[in-house]
Amino acid sequence: MEQSEDKSYRGDFPVRDQDVQASFKYDVASMVGGEGLLRCLKCGACSGGCPVGSVIDYRPRKVLGNVLLGLKDEVLSSDQIWLCAACFTCEERCVQQVAFTDVVTVLRNMASKEGHAAPGYVKMAEMVMQNGRVSARTGVVDKMREQLGLPPLQDPAIDQLRGIMKAAGLYDVIAANKKEGESD
Ligand code: SF4
Ligand code: SF4
Repeated sequence: MEQSEDKSYRGDFPVRDQDVQASFKYDVASMVGGEGLLRCLKCGACSGGCPVGSVIDYRPRKVLGNVLLGLKDEVLSSDQIWLCAACFTCEERCVQQVAFTDVVTVLRNMASKEGHAAPGYVKMAEMVMQNGRVSARTGVVDKMREQLGLPPLQDPAIDQLRGIMKAAGLYDVIAANKKEGESD
């Protein structure tokens, strides 16, 4: 398989001392969902079965290995943590019961707070903020529901939803991930 051209995700040896933040793995492991990280043996069974990794340069073991090494900036600014499709194959295979999808959620949350969220996710969050849905309601869907005998879609309680999003800090995350020149 061809290697990625993404030079921002070095992931190679030797690791430079100045790139290592030793507390990073403990910070991740202390978060809800990150607990299993420290059990990882870096055996690679997760990478071996990952369907995403079978088509592009993506290795869950590499992500975990770099977290365990303490390569915080490299991990959080990389597109690698946004590639997991949450199929759970790796969790089925893991002898150490590491919940990779939960670990990657922790990493995504950390990355988002630092302004490294994948643009597609930011867009979805904005859509939910504006419409209460990840995609706009269309007449096509209404028609299909009618044909299937399903009840009409209910409009979401948008004010309540926005209140929850604000309380959860999502407004701040969206603002942190706005690129220069983008407006609300
Ligand atoms: S299968 Fe489990 S123990 Fe092995 S590298 Fe993946 S997460 Fe770590
Ligand atoms: S959950 Fe993510 S990392 Fe694990 S096998 Fe599926 S796509 Fe790969």
